[in-house]
Amino acid sequence: MKKILLPEENEKLKYYKANLHCHSTISDGAKTPEQLKEDYKAHGYSILSITDHEVFISHSELSDSEFLMLNGYEIEASGTGSKTCHLCFVALEPDNTEEVCFSKAHLWGNAKENAKYVNIDKKTSMLFRKYTKHGVNKLIKTGKEHGFFVTYNHPTWSLEAYPQYIRYKNADAMEITNYGCVVCGFDDDNGHAYDDMLRDGEKLFCISTDDNHNVYPDSSPDCDSYGGYIMIASPSLNYRDVTAALKKGLFYSSTGTYKHTGPEFHSITYENGEVHIKTGDVRSIAYIPCSRDCQIKNAEYGECINEATFKVKKNEKYFRIVITDTLGYKAYSNAYFPKEF
Ligand SMILES: [Zn+2]
Ligand SMILES: [Zn+2]
Repeated sequence: MKKILLPEENEKLKYYKANLHCHSTISDGAKTPEQLKEDYKAHGYSILSITDHEVFISHSELSDSEFLMLNGYEIEASGTGSKTCHLCFVALEPDNTEEVCFSKAHLWGNAKENAKYVNIDKKTSMLFRKYTKHGVNKLIKTGKEHGFFVTYNHPTWSLEAYPQYIRYKNADAMEITNYGCVVCGFDDDNGHAYDDMLRDGEKLFCISTDDNHNVYPDSSPDCDSYGGYIMIASPSLNYRDVTAALKKGLFYSSTGTYKHTGPEFHSITYENGEVHIKTGDVRSIAYIPCSRDCQIKNAEYGECINEATFKVKKNEKYFRIVITDTLGYKAYSNAYFPKEF
């Protein structure tokens, strides 16, 4: 039976460009929410979640018929050392505006001043932030129970490696790219971390984000906007349509720069033990499974390809697809689990 893993764009379904991790003047970003909306809209984005540190403030008043603001915020659990864990919470329902896990002790920068605008969920505000397996998992669980899409952010910047991230359970997604880290110089292709988590039995999606603070102007090569994004397949820009697509994993991640739009997936389908991938012009299409059975299709030098088919081994626990364009920029599918097809 044919299974559509990533649908083709058609008259009923469109791909919307989104950045789900972003900072404004409400915490430590340099641009106001209004500027961010205008600038992202001008760069072809349709969806933005301003996820300021520790303060959950809705920007729904900035949504219009062509642009959707998703409500979200970022929280952290830090220990005594330099390691830390950051999570983004994006509300699945537009009227969910109560901040869970609020912590006065973690406010800093402009967030201190803006905390007065936060609608605090009192029951979870006393939740002690501990940088431990139990502490972080409690935050993830609380976020999910209160209707948030929870992402595990920038393991590289957080100085978290296998012993740390492997402890975290049931997040909706992890950041496979954090462009703010890339422009700082971090080696931030987190495919290894994603595979480690998947091979350990986690079922989660991956996302590319900007985590932009906009210290540098948009035209600067050091600008941290427009480099990591997801493309969400949704019937409309309605808030609930978009978050339903997010929860179902109907999106892919891509990377580029201010000047360069990253590679595109057009569709991924599975039929009779094979996965078929259609893309825009790319240099290679790679199949990364749970087992050692990696496969790749490369274009001849100077040429491009637009599709590939790979055999999926019987009992393969998961596979994911990575495509690379001629400039070396990558796009990532979510992981798919053949036993569920
Ligand atoms: Zn962070
Ligand atoms: Zn951030």
